Amino acid sequence: VIIDGKKIATDLQKSVKERIKALGFSPTLAVILVGDNPASLIYVNNKCKTAEKLGIKANLYHLSPVMTAEALKAFIKDLNKDPAVNGILLQLPLPGTLEKDTFDLINTIDPAKDVDGLTQENLGRLFVGRAGIIPGTPKACLTLLKNVQKNLKGLHAVVIGRSLLVGRPLAQLLLQEDMTVTMTHSKTKNLEKICSGADVIISATGVPHLITPSCVKKGAIVIDVGIHRLESGKITGDVDFDAVAPLTKAITPVPGGVGPMTIAMIWENLLMMCQRKK
Ligand code: NAD
Repeated sequence: VIIDGKKIATDLQKSVKERIKALGFSPTLAVILVGDNPASLIYVNNKCKTAEKLGIKANLYHLSPVMTAEALKAFIKDLNKDPAVNGILLQLPLPGTLEKDTFDLINTIDPAKDVDGLTQENLGRLFVGRAGIIPGTPKACLTLLKNVQKNLKGLHAVVIGRSLLVGRPLAQLLLQEDMTVTMTHSKTKNLEKICSGADVIISATGVPHLITPSCVKKGAIVIDVGIHRLESGKITGDVDFDAVAPLTKAITPVPGGVGPMTIAMIWENLLMMCQRKK
């Protein structure tokens, strides 16, 4: 089975649109883009367009890349205070010298407006099993996985990549599903051997063709989070898709797998935040 993330995301968005109608007001999402990273520009414009289609008011703040971390913090704090703003999204990666302050800046966002679920409070809540807002990409991975198999209890998952955005929160989510989770990363020895025993492999590294057939047990489920742009301009993931797919029970393609689902999760998180506030 090739897991059609695009279709699952579209269905989810339809349902979010209906639930937004039922809210009785149009939620407002503040989208902050600092600098002119071409990929980020495309991402934010797409997000804003989709938001409008769903009945969400998206305010894009396109800020100068030469601004200081202090100035950006002050900007975020103003949005925190603004009662008309329901959610705040800080587009990553941040440019230049701001990059080293990424987590400080994310942490400036009011956790109740943190649509990406990446503030310390929301990550911490996930860790202690009292989830607030769950980060989009891990939530997207779990949703896609459950689309293939509802009951994940006792299955062995190998998560590749330990970033705060993806790998670590994902491992927590999977543990809460009673899976047995092995975390791996760039310093892991024998990655191939560890993966080859797994029922589920979720790879989030950005290293193309890291996952080859020798890493995959027959009948495993493979979720590919990685995004890598080849010189030809083509987008590819961490998995050697053509070689690995025939071995799997189900697999996500890149593009068209985790990517669209991650975006759909922003809308679901925003809706949840508005429902709670109401
Ligand atoms: P990151 O650079 O913060 O983390 C990468 C992780 O991969 C690190 O933990 C590192 O230890 C691990 N890694 C690197 N090389 C490895 C190797 N050879 N073997 C094992 N582990 C290795 O990146 P991130 O923000 O976690 O994103 C990871 C990938 O997922 C990127 O390609 C990114 O573009 C993509 N991504 C996709 C989505 C989506 O919606 N599809 C969302 C977020 C990130």
